[in-house]
Amino acid sequence: MSIRLSATAFALALLAGCAAPPPRTGTPVAVALPPKASAPAATATPADDNLNATVWTQTAIEHDLIYLQTYRDARQRLLAALQDKRWDALPQDDRVAPVKGLKPAVVLDIDETVLDNSPYQARLIRSGGEFNEADWAAWCKEEKARALPGAVEFTQFAASHGIAVIYISNRARDLDQATLANLRKVGLPVSGPDAFLGLGTFVKGCEQIGTEKGCRRQLISRHYRVLMQFGDQIGDFVDVPANIPRGRASAVAPYLSWIGTRWFVLPNPTYGSWEPALFNNDWQAPREERRRLKIGALRQQ
Ligand SMILES: [Mg+2]
Repeated sequence: MSIRLSATAFALALLAGCAAPPPRTGTPVAVALPPKASAPAATATPADDNLNATVWTQTAIEHDLIYLQTYRDARQRLLAALQDKRWDALPQDDRVAPVKGLKPAVVLDIDETVLDNSPYQARLIRSGGEFNEADWAAWCKEEKARALPGAVEFTQFAASHGIAVIYISNRARDLDQATLANLRKVGLPVSGPDAFLGLGTFVKGCEQIGTEKGCRRQLISRHYRVLMQFGDQIGDFVDVPANIPRGRASAVAPYLSWIGTRWFVLPNPTYGSWEPALFNNDWQAPREERRRLKIGALRQQ
């Protein structure tokens, strides 16, 4: 997770009261109404950009069901993809060697794709802090991230059919050992150190651009036919030369028919490249300015 997080001033204004459910019959029912809430002072309870996203990730059953649904669907499609020798899930620019005769693989991102790092987000909300590499590395070294629903079953199924399971992650390479240990602890298959391609992986003949994963996909393409890719960021699937909303849409436009067949996209409302795309990727801008631009991106119609 190299993508920096949103501003996290503490606490969301809580709703004043919940609506009582309607009675089942026409019988009048006395409902105790909450005291009338006065309008909150503008600065009394600063909004936290990440509270709803993180608490949804951690508590909403819908979150878990989306992961389960995605991995189950992929599993049902996997053997057909294996049998179709022309089937490949790498974008055209990253397929640098012909697929014929190559071993099959699936390629997965790690954070918020197979491992759940929402406790790290929760800590930031509690502390009022923002993402920083030192805290993030410390969390990774705890090796306590849980597996996301369906991920273990899917990857074990793939491995049991002779399909290599390869992780491309923007975790720094000095987190290799902790990351591999965490993956193993939760039951995700790790065939060896080569199964993890972290940020900083050198790929001969390919110029690394920022945190883009294209070079690592090219490296994989020399050895594997990729049946499926999984991620919570579009950069997990294809390079994104222009991280602005229109550029992001353009990057995936040629591959829309692959969504749900070769590319499986998972939800991450807590952080991601979608966020800096709204403030021109300028993390140096003050929190309030970033927030102002995000609010400006809201559609009201
Ligand atoms: Mg991720």
